[in-house]
Amino acid sequence: MTAFSTLALPLPLLASLEALGYTDMTPVQAQSLPPMLAGRDVVVRAQTGSGKTAAFGLSLLRSIDVDLIRLQALVLCPTRELADQVGKAIRKLAANIPNVKLLTLCGGMPLGPQLASLTHDPHIVVGTPGRVQEHLKKGSLHGGGIKVLVLDEADRMLDMGFTEAIDDIIGRIARHHQTLLFSATYPDGMRAISARVQRDPVEVAVDAPADRQPAIEQRFHEVEPAHKPDALAQLLAAAHDTDGATQQALVFCNMRREVDAVAQELDRRGYSALALHGDMEQRDRDEVLVRFKNHSCSVLVATDVAARGLDIVALPLVVCYDVAHDPETHTHRIGRTGRAGLRGLALTLCTPRERPRLEAVAALAGQPPPWRTLKLAPARGKTLHLAPMKTLVIDAGRRDKLRPGDILGALTGDAGLRAEDVGKIDVFAARAYVAIVRAHAGKALDRLRVGKVKGRNFRVRLLD
Ligand code: AMP
Repeated sequence: MTAFSTLALPLPLLASLEALGYTDMTPVQAQSLPPMLAGRDVVVRAQTGSGKTAAFGLSLLRSIDVDLIRLQALVLCPTRELADQVGKAIRKLAANIPNVKLLTLCGGMPLGPQLASLTHDPHIVVGTPGRVQEHLKKGSLHGGGIKVLVLDEADRMLDMGFTEAIDDIIGRIARHHQTLLFSATYPDGMRAISARVQRDPVEVAVDAPADRQPAIEQRFHEVEPAHKPDALAQLLAAAHDTDGATQQALVFCNMRREVDAVAQELDRRGYSALALHGDMEQRDRDEVLVRFKNHSCSVLVATDVAARGLDIVALPLVVCYDVAHDPETHTHRIGRTGRAGLRGLALTLCTPRERPRLEAVAALAGQPPPWRTLKLAPARGKTLHLAPMKTLVIDAGRRDKLRPGDILGALTGDAGLRAEDVGKIDVFAARAYVAIVRAHAGKALDRLRVGKVKGRNFRVRLLD
């Protein structure tokens, strides 16, 4: 193990590390920080949970000159949620540097407030490619002083079709800058990007931290095709039982029609399960994600493509219902768990026919597949594994000037629902979703139907 104190980091950064309780570097940090601090371009293959954010965060912060009021570091992330997370992490590291200005600029957020906060360039921007490109084009953001460019989860950005936006951004910023590229996988597209945007990069790959327990425990179960539904239900039930509460899980299938079939089957077996795939309307997809994130759905069954744009932070359990077609996809799938320092469990069901594919996956992990035997227990009737919340949908939103506080107020007012019975509230342009503790959902529905929200009557439904 190597201590941060062995690096030539400015004192304010060392003080922040101490406050965060980080003394030793993670393997990714130990390998990537020395070349980054020496000003080299790096391409780092590392998973979320490896400490990569702190690695590039420290590196970019020590390049910032606070007295220069101009943009000096730009971090591009595939999703808003990741950008928020990264922004927060960098702010913590910057806690002891007075007057650092960091702004997150993401798509899906109104442009007006962003323009208002851009009267002076911030020192650091963390954002999604489309929106950052828009600001650079409009001239509301200036890239001429950028010293460090970070591409975080670059493989996901490629998958999501951001290649052109990234190239355009690079064309609009200072020609001489350091480029730090982070990616969980290293497909050919990434090699091409690296070759295009980096100069003589130092390559760092940390597959499994040798001195720590892996953040993700993988188990492979061989089952006959006909037994997959039983095996899945049994594995989910076992995971649910471990801590009493209903744990959330993400189940991956290779095909859309299988996604629907598996979700229906789980629903029949007493799970709050929903399907997510590309054949669905955008609005239905949004709704499914809202319900999963607000804990009204405990099992999300998805295809790889549908799951790509999904910003879910730490899931305790991922199940691969089929073996992925290539090892990179498998790596993406299991990377959905074991995040943010939490341990995760990744289970893969594998039929005898799928075994050759599984060997390829295991070869990437560099270790023999950890097989587990699974004895299928006879079904003991239907047990319920329902999600703790239910979702109410109100046919009104930002357009009606509806805010989360209005909904919370209506629910906790006369009806006497307790604030702790009300969960996440998501307000979209024309509709709003509110999660209510399952046992009180009926009461909340009645209350909103007869009462008023913001002095008006809106249509309200319960999603089931
Ligand atoms: P990341 O890979 O950036 O998502 O980071 C994973 C988690 O590890 C985050 O919750 C960090 O706060 C934490 N972390 C990062 N670096 C260190 C370190 N050197 N020691 C302990 N925890 C760390």
